[in-house]
Amino acid sequence: MTAAAPAGARERQGRAPTPAPVRRLSPAPRPRQVDVALAVAAAGFGVTIALTVLVESSAQLRAPGGVAMFLGNLTGMAGTYLALCMILLVSRLPFVERVVGQDGLLRWHRRLAPWPITLIVLHAVLLTYAYAVASKTGVLHQLSQFISSYSGMLVAIIGFGLLVVVSVVSIHQIRRRLRRETWWAIHLAMYLAFALAFVHEVVLGPSFVGHPLTQALWGAIWAATAGVVLAYRFGLPILRSIRHDLRVHATKVEADGVTSIVFTGKRLEELAISGGQFFEWRFLARGLWWQAHPYTLSARPQAPFVRVTVKAIGDHSSAIARLATGTRVLVEGPYGAFTAHAKRREKVAIIAGGIGVTSARALLEDLGRRSEPVVVMRASTAGDVALESEVRELVEARRGALHVLVGSRQEISVDDTLAVLRDLRRRDIYVSGSESFVQAVVEALAERGLPDDAVHWEVYAL
Ligand SMILES: Cc1cc2nc3c(=O)[nH]c(=O)nc-3n(C[C@H](O)[C@H](O)[C@H](O)COP(=O)(O)OP(=O)(O)OC[C@H]3O[C@@H](n4cnc5c(N)ncnc54)[C@H](O)[C@@H]3O)c2cc1C
Repeated sequence: MTAAAPAGARERQGRAPTPAPVRRLSPAPRPRQVDVALAVAAAGFGVTIALTVLVESSAQLRAPGGVAMFLGNLTGMAGTYLALCMILLVSRLPFVERVVGQDGLLRWHRRLAPWPITLIVLHAVLLTYAYAVASKTGVLHQLSQFISSYSGMLVAIIGFGLLVVVSVVSIHQIRRRLRRETWWAIHLAMYLAFALAFVHEVVLGPSFVGHPLTQALWGAIWAATAGVVLAYRFGLPILRSIRHDLRVHATKVEADGVTSIVFTGKRLEELAISGGQFFEWRFLARGLWWQAHPYTLSARPQAPFVRVTVKAIGDHSSAIARLATGTRVLVEGPYGAFTAHAKRREKVAIIAGGIGVTSARALLEDLGRRSEPVVVMRASTAGDVALESEVRELVEARRGALHVLVGSRQEISVDDTLAVLRDLRRRDIYVSGSESFVQAVVEALAERGLPDDAVHWEVYAL
């Protein structure tokens, strides 16, 4: 946002204090810390397996159902340990998020998810079978025995039921048919499922019964994981929102269906944020307070102002253009690794599809004069081009070039888009926009043999 932006927010605005640039960048990512965390997680997995193996005797293995019993315990321990890792991935641990971004964390979370779920399902099946064999009874009768005679087992069965429901709902083909908010609410039940799994595990698990030290250690690991989730998903965002006290100040139409919303906030000079990063925004207005959506700052903050620029595509993004001045906002973030920190080369190319221009615009502010950025703004129609004059000004100040390419994807292909970018191999390439646009461009860049570390992207959907 230039200093004039809040004043230029003509349509509805409050009093306009004088803006002051906020220059604190977000901390640089430290990939080495993530490597260490991964090594610790792998070691923890090894210890978990060892705990299960060490409590097993050969006599237990030879007993009727003994092998199934052992495998059932092993899959249970391994599954719940991986579930902990899965929860940690979505806790937004800052030092990991800085390296892989929120989209990277979610990608890992989704890749990992089938493993704990499969292992926990195997655990339930194997143990039911093993107990049925040991008691010389049928599987269904054994299940009813579990519920009526084993303390802690009913809790486990409820947790297991929740896990199965949430897992089915999370299957891509089913999930995409649900409203995102509906899926999100159901998905929260997974936390309850894992809490119930923990309770039955420490009460009944052979690695824990009679092993108070192991029980205490396992409890401490689970408590620490819950603490991390509570701190980073709830505590920190609430504290930050109270501290900065963001409120809607003004709105300005930028293009067809594209509106900038300027907020005022307190102590924004304390905010460490890099161009290209985003917050999850929760507007405390009727019908909006219960959902948080990601929007990128479309300019570096200028205390006391911050700005987002939003393309209306659905309920939330359409409603925020009509927010009343003074509406309070809660934020979670800043998140994202689509920043100047990712840059490995001096020169830069930026390819922004549609509303992807917001991160491109803010990123430009963090680039030095020697970056000579070549920027492509892609839009379907001339009315979709937003923030062009701001981008042009920033590009010219860095001795770069701006290409605005307007036309449908049939009229202007990805090859046409890349054709305007000279000396790509000497540049870091940033791509932002819709999933299909970013995917097509990133694939085309890979086909041209550009190295992975040169290509950075932000997809505007999680
Ligand atoms: C990292 C990131 C940065 C973004 N920055 C901007 C920006 O600067 N300007 C802008 O206009 N848009 C931005 N978006 C996209 C914006 O978040 C969605 O357009 C908006 O959330 C759509 O919500 P809706 O209710 O209006 O539409 P819906 O019809 O509910 O959703 C349309 C699509 O938006 C995505 N979406 C919906 N809700 C969410 C959510 N809570 N979290 C993540 N994705 C969601 C889904 O892919 C969905 O299919 C960004 C998205 C991401 C992930």
